[in-house]
Amino acid sequence: MSKLDEIVSLCKRRGFIFPGSEVYGGFAGTWDFGPLGVILKKKIMDEWWKFFVENRDDMYGVDAAILMNPLVWKASGHTATFADPLVECKECKSRFRADKIADGINESVSSEEFWNLHVKCPVCGKENWGPIRKFNMMFSTHVGAVLPDDDAELSEKSVAYLRPETAQGIFVNYKNVVDTFYPTIPFGLAQQGKAFRNEISPRDFILRDRECSQMEIEYFVKPSEWEVSFEMLRGLQHEFLENVMGLNASSIHEFEVAPEDRAHYSERTIDFMFDYPNGSEELMGLAYRTDFDLANIARESGKSMEYRDKNTGETYVPHVIEPSIGVERLFLAVLTNAYFEDEVDGASRVVLKLPENLAPYRFCVSPLLKNKPELVEKAQEVYQILRSRYGNVTWDDSGNIGKRYRKQDEIGTPKCVVIDFDTLNDNSVTVRDRDDTSQVRVLISEL
Ligand SMILES: [Zn+2]
Repeated sequence: MSKLDEIVSLCKRRGFIFPGSEVYGGFAGTWDFGPLGVILKKKIMDEWWKFFVENRDDMYGVDAAILMNPLVWKASGHTATFADPLVECKECKSRFRADKIADGINESVSSEEFWNLHVKCPVCGKENWGPIRKFNMMFSTHVGAVLPDDDAELSEKSVAYLRPETAQGIFVNYKNVVDTFYPTIPFGLAQQGKAFRNEISPRDFILRDRECSQMEIEYFVKPSEWEVSFEMLRGLQHEFLENVMGLNASSIHEFEVAPEDRAHYSERTIDFMFDYPNGSEELMGLAYRTDFDLANIARESGKSMEYRDKNTGETYVPHVIEPSIGVERLFLAVLTNAYFEDEVDGASRVVLKLPENLAPYRFCVSPLLKNKPELVEKAQEVYQILRSRYGNVTWDDSGNIGKRYRKQDEIGTPKCVVIDFDTLNDNSVTVRDRDDTSQVRVLISEL
């Protein structure tokens, strides 16, 4: 099994991530978080929020609706251009994203360019392709009381989209925040939330799915001073990924996106790549978006997006720097970074060396024997003490002690606390360390 398969298997076995709608045979491009996955995901998102919003004076949070006025997507260019090159095999009718089944081409590949590469169909092996067609990745729906037999015009007017990014929910609230909080530039607006993309071929576990969570900041700056903020945000990303998420610095690679490969609105983009089990993939992006979004909104809405400097009286439309990260991508990076297989006492084990701030449980408490009431009672006492102190503590009295350790290793619990007969006399417990499996005696009061 590849390392990615091992991680997928662990996620399912231990209740981190299940295939979406699995009981009905699944639903492509969707994944459900189980009890431990929810805890880990929430911790990742909470740490991000603490680091980028709560601990800073220059950041404000928003939480916009997923359904937005369709003009948002017209203004942002998504209605016209948020599309992937779709190609169909005329032999077996399979459909693919052209730039994912051939090397050296990007999203703007033409039919001729693609045909000239003589790609074989990954499903049937033949080479008989239709033309490249643009496939818009936004999920559309109808808003309001629209019936299937309503006329086309009414039907057309009711079309809305599930947001393909959280960024626009921030931009449409820029003016509201400026008018209510009078922030001093530079300042940022942050949002966490769901985004939806109808990927042609979802793959690589949670790396390319159709529904994901994003964490984005739009950082508003004075146009002439964008570089200072860009460098500041670049440094903060490293600090967060390495010091808070515990990712190995050597697994993170900055990739300066060439001008011809950048999104049309961006004057500078750095992709932060991470060494996933299947190779280096984008973990997050840092983009200088200029005034592209605010200018679009001003044009489409007719409202001024100008900012007035409180000290100098100078007015201008701010420029924007955007650090954007997908929660699932970060989740998989954290798991990849933490996943190890080693040997303990001649037996192989799987261990998740998650940082303490991310581990679903900080402690596991158990009585050495579950059929000794005095041990169980004492262990329950310790469990309650630790739970009121740390919150995220688990209880395990199943199987033998070795099996409990294996299980806790697999879900990343840093310490196992075991109550035995000595505990009843001297209030000391055995604390077993996940990473080096060492055991020490510690007083309950010192835990
Ligand atoms: Zn085919």
